[in-house]
Amino acid sequence: MQETFDSMPLHDYHCALMSAQLPVIVDPLFMVKREFAWSGELETGGMERLATHVSGAAEPISATLEFGREHGKARIRGHVQGQVEMICQRCMLPVTISFDQSFCLGLVQSQAEEERLPEDWEACYINDAEMYPVDVLEEEILLALPLVARHEDVNCAGDPAQTDPESEQAQEQEKRPNPFDVLAQLKQSR
Ligand SMILES: [Zn+2]
Repeated sequence: MQETFDSMPLHDYHCALMSAQLPVIVDPLFMVKREFAWSGELETGGMERLATHVSGAAEPISATLEFGREHGKARIRGHVQGQVEMICQRCMLPVTISFDQSFCLGLVQSQAEEERLPEDWEACYINDAEMYPVDVLEEEILLALPLVARHEDVNCAGDPAQTDPESEQAQEQEKRPNPFDVLAQLKQSR
């Protein structure tokens, strides 16, 4: 008789994964029951979504994950810390972005459950009982990064007055007529 992967007892399989390595795939509620915790360095090479936001080779990122219960609710507390290189949107040269972010994910299966989470928790839907911890951490890294990367003014080779998207937006707004001025003109012309 051939032993297949499916014949492995599920719980032994999960226990075997509780090592220094971050498991590739977990059953989140089982991990909550076991109060599974992991801390270590994340290789970012395989993170495709992160790769579209950063430039150059990324260094390992320190991360922690800790499954457990608080207020009777299943949750994951975690932390991501490190630095990546992004492209400054003012001068188009690389800028190093440091981040250091803690998070708490409430594990939910419905919107009603989501609404009952403490205010500073994020909701994490676990409908299919499968979770890829690396994806969870990648998501948190992306949330920790700025939408638009920029150097501090003194370090930037770009001319802020020329290329700063915010000041361009401000100029755009100056050109647009103020709706209240238009109203005033209408009243005067009556
Ligand atoms: Zn710059």
